[in-house]
Amino acid sequence: MSNNSPLIYGGHDDGRRSVRSAMWRGMKKRCPQCGKGHIFKSYTKVKDQCDECGLVLSGHEADDGPPYFTMLIAGHLIIPLMLEWKRHFHPPIGLQLLVSLTLLGLAIWWLLPVTKGALIGVQWANRMHGFSDHHDDDVEASLRAEEPLR
Ligand SMILES: [Zn+2]
Repeated sequence: MSNNSPLIYGGHDDGRRSVRSAMWRGMKKRCPQCGKGHIFKSYTKVKDQCDECGLVLSGHEADDGPPYFTMLIAGHLIIPLMLEWKRHFHPPIGLQLLVSLTLLGLAIWWLLPVTKGALIGVQWANRMHGFSDHHDDDVEASLRAEEPLR
């Protein structure tokens, strides 16, 4: 975004926002408002602002939510699967460990950005934290300070 483009706090005031749509967009790692811009600049590091619509994303407060939901979902999927595998096939303990840790690792790796995007979508749809409609001069000053002058 250029230095002169407007910062959009909380998003365009379009009245009611769909939680389902915002969550789905977030799960696809897209901006909850426009559904086009990417919300992550790295694995789970959220961009300050959407490249497409200018929504300020830095005000999200996902905090410990994504790891909590990731562990909850991965645990409920993988652990029963592993217990059933053990009960029916009695694999060696080394193989159980290898398969369990690999599946858990892959599930966690895939789920963490998905749950984080979904939580950001929920926060945006409900105008929570930095997605409220009020203007925050401190956030704008920090965003302007990080952009190079052209
Ligand atoms: Zn956007």
